[in-house]
Amino acid sequence: MGKPIRKITIVGGGTAGWLAAAFLNRYCTSEDPRKSIEITLIESPDIPIVGVGEASLPGMVVLLHQLGISESEFFKATNATFKVAAHFVNWNHDRRGNSTEFLNILNAPPILDGHHLADYFITFDPARSDPSAGMSYVRAFSPVVEIVKGDLSPRAPEDPEFSGEIGYTYHFDATKVAEFLKELATRRGVIHILDTVDSIALDEKGFVKSLDLREHGEHAIDLVVDCTGFRGSILQKTLGEPFISYADHLLNDRAAVIQIPHNDVTRISPATKATGFSAGWNFNIPLTSRVGTGYIYSSRFISDEDAADELLRHYAGQVKGAEPRVIPIQTGRVRNAWVKNCVALGLAGGFIEPLESTAIFMTDLAVRWLRRFMPTKDFEPEFTTAFNRQVHRLYDEVRDLVQLHYHLNNRQDSKYWRAAREELKLSDRLQENLSIWRTRSPEDLDLASTFLFGGPVYALLLISKGYYSDAHLANAHHLKRSVYDRYRQAIRAARANQLRKLVPQSEFLRGNHFVWGERASRPPPIPAFFPAATKIKLPLHPPKPKKN
Ligand SMILES: Cc1cc2nc3c(=O)[nH]c(=O)nc-3n(C[C@H](O)[C@H](O)[C@H](O)COP(=O)(O)OP(=O)(O)OC[C@H]3O[C@@H](n4cnc5c(N)ncnc54)[C@H](O)[C@@H]3O)c2cc1C
Repeated sequence: MGKPIRKITIVGGGTAGWLAAAFLNRYCTSEDPRKSIEITLIESPDIPIVGVGEASLPGMVVLLHQLGISESEFFKATNATFKVAAHFVNWNHDRRGNSTEFLNILNAPPILDGHHLADYFITFDPARSDPSAGMSYVRAFSPVVEIVKGDLSPRAPEDPEFSGEIGYTYHFDATKVAEFLKELATRRGVIHILDTVDSIALDEKGFVKSLDLREHGEHAIDLVVDCTGFRGSILQKTLGEPFISYADHLLNDRAAVIQIPHNDVTRISPATKATGFSAGWNFNIPLTSRVGTGYIYSSRFISDEDAADELLRHYAGQVKGAEPRVIPIQTGRVRNAWVKNCVALGLAGGFIEPLESTAIFMTDLAVRWLRRFMPTKDFEPEFTTAFNRQVHRLYDEVRDLVQLHYHLNNRQDSKYWRAAREELKLSDRLQENLSIWRTRSPEDLDLASTFLFGGPVYALLLISKGYYSDAHLANAHHLKRSVYDRYRQAIRAARANQLRKLVPQSEFLRGNHFVWGERASRPPPIPAFFPAATKIKLPLHPPKPKKN
């Protein structure tokens, strides 16, 4: 066995860099200084972080818990709010050309009598053919529609941190998150160097030997983590690892972003809103202090000026004199995120696009894989190969789900939406699945990986987009209507109870209704898209008649 890695150097102090530093510090250090790994983070004082990326997935809840971070401290430090769903508006139209809406939520639907809830909904529920089928389907297993429509908090004021039966995660200020993680990581021993890497020296085998820092001079390397953002300064620019573009699958290549004040601070939505625009979509992420918003669009269909106009018109009452910042986006990933002794994380490793808020969680997962496959100084190829395979699957998984949102749009009102539906390449797997799913609702077994998006997410998406409005499922004759009817009755009875204790999110946050220092005793499960399955007890079998 080779000699152990003693030093990890992270270059980049954005969310990716500090997340990696905090996580590796938590899991790769030891009380025995001879066994510990020293973690150093170098960030340039002259190159700003991208400063966007303000909606997360439930993996963030798990991460905070594992890092021993108090939720209330996190909320206060990062102006965070709860997120229970992604709210899609104007991605599809009804027969009259009016916008429809649906929610992608964070709780999994139940299995009833061995069959997916989606199968019952598609087979027995007339709502499947409505333009609001997605909302009806979510109502069938979760109170999240009511929570979003009422701008409620997913947790009751008296609930302890990291608890509650509604799956949730957070919106937060991206700059403040990086600051928060920096403070945490440096307090726990991560060495912080504020300096710019000017050049990189490789050894005779092409491994990174040292970094040349503008002020601090030479910095020797064991393992370097490239978190230099879209610049990709180490893996792409120095080691020459090629970038695999997803432009054949996804149209968007620009973001125009802006921060705006709240319209009404008593109504803070617990959803990330994604509204279809003429040549892309608008994200709306409410924090306690402001709203982060932006237009993700394709420069093939709209100019930067027209995109800025469309965005500003949409928020006419809320924007005064501010100009959006335009960020070019390249969708895709590096061919291999780990090459020799360099691992690229965050934007340096790739980016799909902000839809479904996946990037930070993808970084989180990759850091976990890095910890699992931590090599010795021999850099065993099996670790590198395993890491890269996982990352490839992750990127392809996210690309396919994100593309499905576009592919299944039915908008006739713009060239962009027609192109997004008709012109782009689908992966072989997605194409095959779309045929299979005509007569079978999606399940995990159909998918190459389910790191973020399992069968239930696909089912929700397809139902919401009218894929099953007149479908007949292959297993329909195995389903019992009575099972679905009893389930619906039980849900209706439980619903009022679930909502009774919840208060408006603005009230929850203003009152800082956190139970200080108290944590849910059970840690959250392993990162998954659905952190908390619905806990409603379902009387699937009719009660036995009482004997007299
Ligand atoms: C419009 C938009 C919206 C997004 N929305 C979401 C979202 O809702 N949810 C989500 O999960 N993700 C989102 N993302 C992605 C998210 O913003 C990023 O994943 C996240 O911010 C991490 O960025 P990063 O740390 O990789 O890069 P950056 O924040 O760009 O940080 C790069 C760092 O590298 C340093 N650096 C660069 N070169 C050098 C050098 N030579 N020497 C020293 N230091 C150097 C810089 O100083 C900086 O500290 C979004 C992205 C975009 C573009």
